[in-house]
Amino acid sequence: MRMHTCLHLLCAVVPGAVTGGQVADGRGRLDFDVPGSSLDKEAITAQLNRLIAAGHRVTPRWISDGELAAQPDLVRTMSVKPPTGSGRVRLMEIAGIDLQPCGGTHVANTAEIGPVAVAKIENKGRQNRRIIIAFAA
Ligand SMILES: [Zn+2]
Repeated sequence: MRMHTCLHLLCAVVPGAVTGGQVADGRGRLDFDVPGSSLDKEAITAQLNRLIAAGHRVTPRWISDGELAAQPDLVRTMSVKPPTGSGRVRLMEIAGIDLQPCGGTHVANTAEIGPVAVAKIENKGRQNRRIIIAFAA
């Protein structure tokens, strides 16, 4: 839950489409399609911890399938289509920071995540960057 919520923050910090992701054993990773960009481990770690420490509320919000279809920008994860067909879709909102369809479980406040650090940034092809996050504490 904590790491999953943290990945939402990572989405907000790193520009580019998300092409994959995973959470396991207190670690999480996201793959980003970042053309020609150099990502800085320390800068991303600092930005994440700033957002976590600020204690932003994480709240669910429901919209209809039609509303989602009208706002394709909401879907950051290209590899995982949000579940549609039931007439409504759950969005997770971290006010002013991230808003995207997600059926996962989240903490209610970013402060609950605790300190994290970017463990590694790997090159996975010309445009693909894998960012691995671990708990710092
Ligand atoms: Zn989520």
